[in-house]
Amino acid sequence: MKKLTDIKTDFPGWYQDIIFQAELVDSSPTRGSMVIRPYGYAIWENIQKILDKKIKVLGAQNAYFPLLIPESFLKKEAEHVEGFAPEVAVVTHAGGKKLEEPFVIRPTSETIIYSMFSRWIHSWRDLPLKINQWANVVRWEMRPRAFLRTTEFLWQEGHTVHASREEAMQMALDAREMYKDFVENYLAIPVFSGIKSESERFAGADETYCIEAIMPDGKGLQMGTTHLLAHSFPESFEISFQDKDGTMKVPYCSSWGVSTRMIGGLIMSHGDENGLILPPKIAPVQAIIIPIYRNEDDKKTVLEMAEKLEDLFEKLSIRIAIDNDETKTPGAKFFHWELRGVPIRIEIGPKDVAKNQVVLVSRVEKDKAKKKSFVSIDQLEKALPDMLDTIQRKLLETAKVRSEKLLEKNGWCGSAACEATLKEDKRTIRCLIESKEHTNCFSCNKPSIADVIIAKAY
Ligand SMILES: [Zn+2]
Repeated sequence: MKKLTDIKTDFPGWYQDIIFQAELVDSSPTRGSMVIRPYGYAIWENIQKILDKKIKVLGAQNAYFPLLIPESFLKKEAEHVEGFAPEVAVVTHAGGKKLEEPFVIRPTSETIIYSMFSRWIHSWRDLPLKINQWANVVRWEMRPRAFLRTTEFLWQEGHTVHASREEAMQMALDAREMYKDFVENYLAIPVFSGIKSESERFAGADETYCIEAIMPDGKGLQMGTTHLLAHSFPESFEISFQDKDGTMKVPYCSSWGVSTRMIGGLIMSHGDENGLILPPKIAPVQAIIIPIYRNEDDKKTVLEMAEKLEDLFEKLSIRIAIDNDETKTPGAKFFHWELRGVPIRIEIGPKDVAKNQVVLVSRVEKDKAKKKSFVSIDQLEKALPDMLDTIQRKLLETAKVRSEKLLEKNGWCGSAACEATLKEDKRTIRCLIESKEHTNCFSCNKPSIADVIIAKAY
């Protein structure tokens, strides 16, 4: 296998190497799209499992809507179509002939979902209505990069309808809080909660809220967005309800989503010169057992202990596996699992069996003395989960310190002209945040309306 590109001198090259070598993705014959391999997909499945529960706590139910949307639907909301037109793929032929009305492949599903909402919503009793969809979407991408920008990607999109603007806004804020909690406490990536400036707002939204992360190369990565859609879509799709006072009213909406892009953030946030580092809460394999032996007798006793431990930890819901590939040396296995970012390696040799102990090796410790620990089997039931917790916490702490160091925060007067001056060096206002430490605009020096985070984007 090719040596990993040096993370310090060529971060994009390192990223490109790691996604292929750790077998997260493969390049696909379909230009701009990625093939997600089983190890990468297992990460997505863990993300889905955790987020799906949280989405249901917010009161949304899962449903599924068609991939193909009548082109006229997209045109109903003027800002929406203008925003998405350049990246929409259109199906003009099917069934062996030219279609009377073309279909667009969904770049997002507001239009088709709202057309259904207009049939489902009649009275205040039907509100709030909260629907979530796990799906793929297509947005034509000229400069694809696996996970970060691909023509087709996977995501969830929540769509909710409410009787009042306040309630819809609260929903968008609650969804942002859910994402922040998930990204920080599971992916171990610190984020800033903020609001997008008008120029960066979702096409058709009154307000776009977001969480933004600062990556080790100083670039900003949008990890999730939530939108207050207010009346734009409900009016275009003629959604109305009879309120308690008997009058007909137009409801208010929110939509929110996160995508496989989060996996790109995960890779960049924690990886090092030896490969990926996955936070335990999201890692497909949390601990890998490497049996070490030289003869058949040792093999028997070592494997017996390995299997006993595998059973024990599976019962404790720890994702554990044994690498008993006999064609590979222990050294090659260490390298293989280190590259894949497995948080803990458990080494078991005949001497360890004799002493009733194992060797635990942490993927995150750089300090040699702290990296390895000898733990007796009786202590392991506590020591292993403790070590997973420590790794999870340490990853977030390290990322936090780095992110604060790289962060560019400044004041902004609110004018689009000042915002546009950043474009020269390809930077943007990532979001407006709540703190107000800066009194003047970074560009014109007039009074600032809010602190903003400024960074290059991917
Ligand atoms: Zn200004």
